[in-house]
Amino acid sequence: MNILQFSAFTDNYIWAIKNKNHLLLVDPGDHRPIEHFFLQNPSCLLAGILITHHHNDHVGGILDLLDQPFLCDDSKILVNGIKCRSKVPVFGPPSCERFGVNTIVTEGDIIDWYDLTSKVLDIRGHTEEHLGYYCTTIEGDMPPFVFCGDTLFAGGCGRVLGGSVSDLFDSLVKLKSLPKKTLVYCAHEYTLNNLNFAVNIFPDDKEISNRKKNVEICRSRNISTVPSTIEVEIQTNPFYRCLELEQFKELRKMKDVWS
Ligand SMILES: [Zn+2]
Repeated sequence: MNILQFSAFTDNYIWAIKNKNHLLLVDPGDHRPIEHFFLQNPSCLLAGILITHHHNDHVGGILDLLDQPFLCDDSKILVNGIKCRSKVPVFGPPSCERFGVNTIVTEGDIIDWYDLTSKVLDIRGHTEEHLGYYCTTIEGDMPPFVFCGDTLFAGGCGRVLGGSVSDLFDSLVKLKSLPKKTLVYCAHEYTLNNLNFAVNIFPDDKEISNRKKNVEICRSRNISTVPSTIEVEIQTNPFYRCLELEQFKELRKMKDVWS
């Protein structure tokens, strides 16, 4: 099992968990890079899709993908121990049904797929409904990983676009409690912008400055800075320096007007 990265639009990432020749996609906002992959890899099949929230750059490709010939006939995906009814299950919150989500999941639901177990997290705040997927493998041969959409970013967090700032704060606290080695697969390459802001707020912080330098080098070579880890985010994400909601609100406001 491994994780594939697809770039979409200007700065989106679409992720895919690949198990032998089967793929479980995360937030396919654009169907084109995925179709290209299946054309190049004709033995591969689409087994299912995980959706975090309803924004078009996360859901826009679902319906086109479900109309393609590379769909798996028997995805073997279980939710809470029961086989999914849909041939290709598309998991997500209720607000995403009109975009192709056919299997509604909520906090605490467990999605099993071969060796992979994915626990659904309610991490609302960016939008009124927003899910995360915390994944572990039975063998423990991969570090745990989380798909957190637009809630937690490398070096930053999502804007409040329909959700509430207090929910976003609670959701970030929830993600912070995951094991420190958890890989954080967010949905955008915003890291350099986020760390420029962080350095502006904490100019004397060595850990933040060092991370920014490393990220600058990566970006100058067009290397992705995602995933990060929960540990790195706790150390250098300015939003994780806010221990109280009021501080967090203030910092989120500052970032909103900064860029
Ligand atoms: Zn969004």
